Amino acid sequence: MTESRTDRLRELRRFIEPFRVEPGRKVRLPKDFDPGYTADFVKKQDAKETLQRGVQQLAEYQARLAAQDTYGLLVVFQAMDAAGKDGTIKHVMSGVNPQGVEVSSFKVPSSEELDHDYLWRYARRLPARGMIGIFNRSYYEEVLVVRVHPQILAGQKMPRKAKGKDVWARRFREINDWERYLVDNGIHVVKLFLNVSREEQKERFLARVDDPERNWKFSAADIRERRYWDDYQKAFAEMLAATSTEWAPWHVIPADRKWFMRIAAGAVILDKIIDLDPRFPTVSDEARAEMLKARDELLAEDGQAQADPKATGQARASRG
Ligand code: ATP
Ligand code: MG
Repeated sequence: MTESRTDRLRELRRFIEPFRVEPGRKVRLPKDFDPGYTADFVKKQDAKETLQRGVQQLAEYQARLAAQDTYGLLVVFQAMDAAGKDGTIKHVMSGVNPQGVEVSSFKVPSSEELDHDYLWRYARRLPARGMIGIFNRSYYEEVLVVRVHPQILAGQKMPRKAKGKDVWARRFREINDWERYLVDNGIHVVKLFLNVSREEQKERFLARVDDPERNWKFSAADIRERRYWDDYQKAFAEMLAATSTEWAPWHVIPADRKWFMRIAAGAVILDKIIDLDPRFPTVSDEARAEMLKARDELLAEDGQAQADPKATGQARASRG
């Protein structure tokens, strides 16, 4: 890597700037964020190479994050069905050491989960220091699907007072406070909304019907959910406006072109981890002196071996 860290950050910032939701601004969907956008300086024919470069850098920085053991990184993916969460996670994280990443997918909550406060199940899956945690859906479902379908809220067993009209404003505040707490404690949060258009979702659903190899992905439930498209767009827009903060801003990733979506999502994650600037720990003078002593001891074994070849034979035999 010949390029300096600051140059790379500048390049990434320029690229991801249009995706960032400015804290406090109002959001209208799809008006404010075009699902079909691609940056003119990123070409499709270079997509593979561009993604590869990002993936490799991410892997390098993840190794430092793990060694430093100070920061954790939570990456939240939210999207409408068929926007491409799974594929993006697969491609962007493909080069990273599997021991450093944990992916959690959140489905309809279990009865055990419903017996707890609504953030409980997400808190249990937060990344430890040194880890990257990926949330495939997240606590944001609590202000999306739960908002679009009031009967889900009704089933959440909360006291009546907690289910009042102000529940969404209150959840936005609680989520913002929670994320602030996490960031203050070294667990940083990257939030990606994969923004697919209504037309493109239809095309992808049709492909799942028409292409036998994709039949397994088809879900009648997804088609039913599509009927609520406008309600979802509204819920997403309000959620983006209310929960994009200085400490945990949202990025809206154009999702109609898969190749561009992957590069853009990767760039936002990479920007954050480079910004954190994790470093391999350096050792103290005492630890270094200890290490040199250990080195002498290891080398002395060889000296011994030369003086006593029989012992070497035994050592080899016992090592098998
Ligand atoms: P895929 O379809 O690619 O396997 P998915 O994330 O869509 O992945 P599904 O099992 O199809 O997984 O759907 C999970 C469902 O769970 C979604 O419809 C989502 O809205 C719902 N869900 C997630 N969180 C909650 C929640 N807190 N309350 C109610 N429903 C939820
Ligand atoms: Mg699904």
